[in-house]
Formats: sequence, C-alpha cells, structure tokens
Amino acid sequence: MAKKQFKSESKRLLDLMINSIYTHKEIFLRELISNASDAIDKLCFISLTDDKVGLNRGDFKINITVDKENRILKIEDNGVGMDKEDLDKNLGTIASSGSYRFKQEMEQTDDIDIIGQFGVGFYSAFMVADKVEVYTKKYGNDTGYTWTSSGADGYTIKEAEKDSAGTVVTLHIKADSENENYSEFLEQYRISELVKKYSDYIRYPIIMDMTRSKAKEGTENSEKPEYETVTEAETLNSMVPIWQRPKKDVTDEEYEKFYHDKFMAFDKPAKIITTSVEGVVTYKALLYIPSKTPFDFYTKDYKKGLQLYSSGVLIMENCEELLPEHFRFVKGVVDSQDFSLNISREVLQHDHQLKTVAKTLEKKIKNELASMLKKDRETYESFFKEFSRNLKYGIVSDYGMHKDNLKDLLMFYSSNSDKLTTLSEYVDRMPEEQKYIYFATGESVASISKLPQAEVVLSKGYELLYCTQDIDEFTLQTLAEYNGKQFKSVDSDDLGIESEQTEDNAEANTEALKFVRDTLGDKVSEVIASKKLVSHPVCMTAKGGISFEMEKYFNTVQPESGMKAQRCLELNMNHEAVKTMISLIGTDDDKAKKYAEIFYNQALLIAGLPIENPSEYADLVCSIM
Ligand code: ADP
Ligand code: MG
Repeated sequence: MAKKQFKSESKRLLDLMINSIYTHKEIFLRELISNASDAIDKLCFISLTDDKVGLNRGDFKINITVDKENRILKIEDNGVGMDKEDLDKNLGTIASSGSYRFKQEMEQTDDIDIIGQFGVGFYSAFMVADKVEVYTKKYGNDTGYTWTSSGADGYTIKEAEKDSAGTVVTLHIKADSENENYSEFLEQYRISELVKKYSDYIRYPIIMDMTRSKAKEGTENSEKPEYETVTEAETLNSMVPIWQRPKKDVTDEEYEKFYHDKFMAFDKPAKIITTSVEGVVTYKALLYIPSKTPFDFYTKDYKKGLQLYSSGVLIMENCEELLPEHFRFVKGVVDSQDFSLNISREVLQHDHQLKTVAKTLEKKIKNELASMLKKDRETYESFFKEFSRNLKYGIVSDYGMHKDNLKDLLMFYSSNSDKLTTLSEYVDRMPEEQKYIYFATGESVASISKLPQAEVVLSKGYELLYCTQDIDEFTLQTLAEYNGKQFKSVDSDDLGIESEQTEDNAEANTEALKFVRDTLGDKVSEVIASKKLVSHPVCMTAKGGISFEMEKYFNTVQPESGMKAQRCLELNMNHEAVKTMISLIGTDDDKAKKYAEIFYNQALLIAGLPIENPSEYADLVCSIM
C-alpha cells in the first residue's frame, strides 16, 4: 500500500515530537485522553437528537490498556470516530482543529464545549511511541479504518472491520535508552497517576485494569490474612471538578478536603472563594486564603500561582501570572475553556485573556479580604497576623503602585487599645486639632510605649501606631498619607504639637548643650534642647532620612552597607538630672562630663541601640552614685 506523506508543516512538527527533548513527555496521555473526550462529546451531542446512536450519557467511556510485555499502550473511546477523509485531514495535517470546525457547525446550540482550538495534540504520541495505530470507525459508517505511522516517513490508511463507532489509539512505546525511560508509561500505577494529575476532571470515566494485592476473602480480619493478586477494572478519574459543581451542592468539608489534598495544606482556610465569570473571558475559579503561613512560604521553594485548567484538563500546574506578588499566599484553580490546551508558558505570559483573568481575580481577592475584615474581624486578624508582611511588601514594591489597593487591608497595634486597628479607624478617632497620624518604631509594643519621645504625643491624648516590624516604616513612608493625613514619626523634629516646655535659662542652656556636644565629639551629630520630653531626661532621635529601625534592619541583612542613622541627643532642660549637670559645668567639669556620657548611653539604651562599652558605662554610673 502506498504511503502518504504528511503535509510539510506537519512533518516539521512531527520531527520535533520524535526527537523531543521536552521533559514533560507525559503530557501525551493528557492529549490523547482529551481527544477521546472530544470525540465522545461529539457523539454524545448527536445522541441527543438521534436515537440510532443507542448509547446513553452513562455508556460513554474511555478505556486504557497496558501490555507491558509487548510494550503497548491503548487508549480507546466510543466517541464519534473518523472516516478515511477525517484521518487524512485530521491526522495528516497539523492545526486541523477538527474541534474548532465542529464547534462552528454546532454554533447555534452553544451547549457543548470543546477544547483544543488548534492541535499539536495528537502528534505528541510520537514523543513516547515509535509507531502509532489509529483504529477507528465513524458513527453512521459501515467501514472502519486503520491509520498507521512510524513517524516522519508518512502514514498508511487501510480498511478494517470494526463493530461500533469509536477509536482505539495504539502506541508502541519506544525502547528505553541511556537517558530516557519510556517503560514507566507501561506501568499501571504511573498511568493512573498521570490520569489523576492531568485528566481527573474529564467528564467521562477513564477505566483501566488495576492489579492489586488483596486479602483473600474470609481472611481479611484474621491475624494472618492471605493475599492474592486481583485484577479489576477501576475508574481512575473523579470526573466532575469540585469548582464546576454548584456551590450549594458542595459541603465545606469537601472544599477543605480538596484544599488539603491538592495543595498539601494543613490549615483550615480563612476563606474559600468561588467565582464564575462570563464575559470577555469566561472562567470559573476556586480560591483559598490560608489561615496559616505555609512552612516554606518565605523560602525560594514556595511557588506562587494558581492551577490553570481548560475545561477540566490541567494545562498548567502553577500559573504565576494569575496572582500578583502581594497575594502570593492564595491557592486555587482557574478553569477556562478560552485557553487552549497547547498554549505554551511563553505565550501565556503575554496572553491578553490571562491578564484579564488575573486582574479580575486580584480585585475579587481584595474585596473578599476587605469584607472579611468588616464582617469577620477575628478571622481577618488572625489571617493578617500571618500574612501582614506580605501585604506590606506589596505596598512598598513596584514603586508603591499597589498602595491604594492595599492600604485598607493594613492593621497596626496602637496606644488606643490592645487590639489591632485599621488606618481608617485611627483617622476616625483623631481629634480635630491633631495634624498627623503618629507612629513610633521599635522592637515591641512594650518598648515603644516607653520611648521618651513618644511621651509628648501620648500626653496630648493622641493615638500612636506601634510599628514593630522592620517593614512598617517603609510601608508608612510609601503610603505618605492616609485620607489626607500625613504620617509622622515621633523621631521627627517637629511633631506639630505646641510645646508646653519653656526654657528657664536660655543662655546657660546653650552653653550646656555645647558642653555636652564637645564632650561626646562625633558620637553624636547634634545635641538639642528637647521639645518632646516630659518626664524623661534624655532621648535619642534620628536625623535625616535613616531611622534607627532602618539602621538595625540593614545591619542585619547587609552588614557591609555600614548604614548609620545620624544620632541626635535630646535633653530635657527642665529635668533635675540635667539641671544638676548644668550646675556642675564650670565648677566640676570632670563630673559634668561623666553626666554627659551617662546621658548619651542612656539614650542609646532606650532607643534599643547597642552601647559601645557596657562595663565602662557601669563603672561611670557607679562612680557618681
Ligand atoms: P485538536 O484536538 O486540537 O483538534 P489534535 O492533534 O489533538 O488536535 O487532534 C487532531 C484531530 O484529530 C482532532 O481534531 C480530531 O478531529 C481528530 N482526532 C484525534 N483523536 C481522535 C479520536 N480519538 N476520535 C476522533 N477523532 C480524533
Ligand atoms: Mg487534541
């Protein structure tokens, strides 16, 4: 029989497949199953109006057979099948897209969805097989055909007896080579695994004989059960994806089980989001907001992304483009018939539809979080404690372009109560004359609330935000303001609060400040009479753009940066200890110098900064006690 040649572009593609170094050769199974499912869709559709089909919805199925000895893998369906012309057209030409044409023909009904708008699908079989046979009979025809090809040298078609409509694709699996293992595709467990992974939600049963070792009847409960190997036909796929089922038919337990199984999570999700969108892109999504940080979340092993399906067929395990960085903790799946099975990662990255989906999902997630904050504060707060850092990174990254989206999701501890507050609640509580939103940074709420420079803000009755995470200050700096109110660090020179402190003796004070400055040398960049201190004698504030928290942060992550905040020592000129020092200047300068050193070290300690020489400091204190 004369061999027919593949069309030239098919030939090229075929060559690619045969010599493929593609690492995911396993997807061939997904492709063949998807074709079988398409073919069944077609016959199933015909059967709605044509009694002669003689099959009910429940009779359609896909059978897989493995014959390890002869290295044969078969995929059989009872779908619509192909005639001679179809074989020529569909399997001899690439991008035949039979599904697409069928879809156009059936346009008026729009009831049936068919995947794969263009096809390299079938040829992927040649990644794992050196010979492929397609034994098929088209519904309504008397004769069947066998199409055979060993790859690029062409194919033959000959008539063959076949009882019923449908197709059997037989793969002669390649021999293993040094670098490639093909025999895995002859292992039952491997095939079953692949079906679960890629084709679990195909709507027809995918059936295969599975051989398992089982306890013999009657011996299951005895102490020494006897085992036998039993081979039974099993349905490998679960057929209906959970996200395709109406929400009212799915229990919370089922949603949670899916979350745990699919994403290897252990926590109870803080929120389960289901969404169904019809529009420019039609899709369904099932998303989970975790309540606990995944153990590898802050490592590079953690992969952000959602699973992408096309009508129940997995096309990408982790589609990063679907989630913005600040929502990288979200897990879930997106299913859209608008994505082609064969779309490559490179193409997807620039895909317009994908961007549309990503945008609407981001909005959805944001709104769900905002509504959780409003309606279920407790859950939101525990979620926020886990993922606050990630949301704050979202605000500072990309030049702050997401800040308006995220600012209302932020919470801080504050002097108002021991509960977290939102910025909007803070602003609502502000007395009319309060100009700024005040914040202070430090290691803990306890240490911040005792900062001397916080005193004047607190004594005014103004609320103070406690920023205990290293990222907090960057976050507020990026936000710059909230509802027209600027953020103000208690370290700033001008807190916008009228000082109630008056200086008794301005001239002596100027002299005293100079004295302290000279004593300390370049350990400090400035010594000033404080307007902030009420009961404390001293504090250390940072001048210029770098705060002490930034200094500490950079010294941990980047010690070589040598980043240092400019130290400004503030003295409370009305404090007894400071007054004592002033009185010593000129009469006992040595002692006055000791006071200056002690003030300096005290200020460092209160600011949570290391002091240069602790034992010297201790001696100094003792010497004047
Ligand atoms: P696509 O599925 O995107 O159309 P494929 O390369 O996977 O591209 O398949 C090419 C065509 O071959 C299909 O459109 C279909 O017409 C035909 N075909 C493949 N497998 C089968 C099958 N099992 N039953 C009927 N037709 C099939
Ligand atoms: Mg296909």
